[in-house]
Amino acid sequence: MKPISLLALALVILFVISPQSIAQSSGRRMQIPNSRNRNIASIVREIDAKNIERTIRQLVAFGTRNTLSEQNDPKRGIGAARDWLYAEFLKAAETSGGRMTVEKQSFEQPKAQRVPQPTILTNIVATLKGIQPESADRVYVVSGHYDSMCTSPTDAKCDAPGANDDASGTAAVLEMARVMAKYQFDATIVFMTVPGEEQGLLGATHFAEEAKQKTTNIDAMFTNDIVGNTLGGNGIRDRSTVRVFSEGIPSNETTAEANTRRSVGGENDSASRQLARFIEETGEGYVPQMKVMLIYRRDRYGRGGDHQPFLERGFPAVRFTEVNEEYRHQHQNVRIENGVQYGDLPEFVDFAYIANVARVNAASLATLALAPARPKGVSILTAGLSNDTDLKWEANKEPDIAGYEIVWRDTTSPVWTNSKPVGNVTTFTMKGMSKDNYFFGVRAVDKEGNRSVVVYPKPLGRTAPAVNTTPASSSP
Ligand SMILES: [Zn+2]
Repeated sequence: MKPISLLALALVILFVISPQSIAQSSGRRMQIPNSRNRNIASIVREIDAKNIERTIRQLVAFGTRNTLSEQNDPKRGIGAARDWLYAEFLKAAETSGGRMTVEKQSFEQPKAQRVPQPTILTNIVATLKGIQPESADRVYVVSGHYDSMCTSPTDAKCDAPGANDDASGTAAVLEMARVMAKYQFDATIVFMTVPGEEQGLLGATHFAEEAKQKTTNIDAMFTNDIVGNTLGGNGIRDRSTVRVFSEGIPSNETTAEANTRRSVGGENDSASRQLARFIEETGEGYVPQMKVMLIYRRDRYGRGGDHQPFLERGFPAVRFTEVNEEYRHQHQNVRIENGVQYGDLPEFVDFAYIANVARVNAASLATLALAPARPKGVSILTAGLSNDTDLKWEANKEPDIAGYEIVWRDTTSPVWTNSKPVGNVTTFTMKGMSKDNYFFGVRAVDKEGNRSVVVYPKPLGRTAPAVNTTPASSSP
């Protein structure tokens, strides 16, 4: 036997004997075994930095894309950008066999802090319909904002190239639509570019509010905003890392949910944080040249973005942004001062890097839209004290469901470290593993091995009320 096959045999034996001890000894996140879906690998391959560069240069050529700028000039202003993007998404839809439709979602924005007079805003929304009847109403949204600004957010005349903020995210979304339109997914994917971000997240808010009113099942939303600069103001060049921001405590958490969380933990286990962990595992699996840097915050320190209106309405959402920002090239009038070039110009954007960020997005979106839904009703049974952990959930409705996996980690671990396939069942007991000592989660797996995002269980049975009794010491 050759040494290499001896090694392989030894590895197989190790895994068969003790899969859990191997996963635990790694001390690091789990590997997703199915990171080799051939269609997803093709999507990742087909994403092309040249198309991204072409989109960014075209958007910059409109001079300004300030939300308050000219709407009817074919050459300059946000109207020209809107119409060009609409035409490009229509072109992308041509390969979809009628599954992708493109819509101009227009609305009148009333006067607001950064909107001096009522203004028409138009979201460009390309919807790629899912083909599995049980999953087609499950929607994944990927977005970038196509508006831009110079130093003043209400200056509609100045040049505002916005090559990085946010032609980079817009170009990434358009390129994903172009590549993914010809592939089929179980669930629905919305490729969206919005205006009004710099005016107060207005386009994204309109879309999220309408989705809430229509009770659209948005299972996840990604915003790509400032994903193109790889040389930071700190002098650090990083072409292989992207930040993914996720909030810990949900923006829409109710008082009752907060009481439960204080009783059983979970401040690090919102649906958005599970989504971020999923992106790290999936994205790095398909795009090994990229590292996903999980940031356990809603957004950058004291700042915001288009995922917020989604979070506030209860839709899981994350933000993608480069690692080291360069503030001389954000929200600046284009000028040279003391020999320093200011302004958000294409020469400071790394097109190959944006393509890699788009690949991480696309691999994650494709996996989400091929995988089963997150299991519903995931609970830990709390009736009676036990050193075992009893988990329970509802059966998924997809016909290609294969079963479920329990995942777990130490309470101090930032990411899931262990997983155990438990078959096509709706209850499982983790023998000898106390819910006091680990965090548990459940995810669904289909017959092709596509895994859903993990669900963090809620307690079922004896729950939080015990902590609400008034302590005796509070009586006068
Ligand atoms: Zn932005």
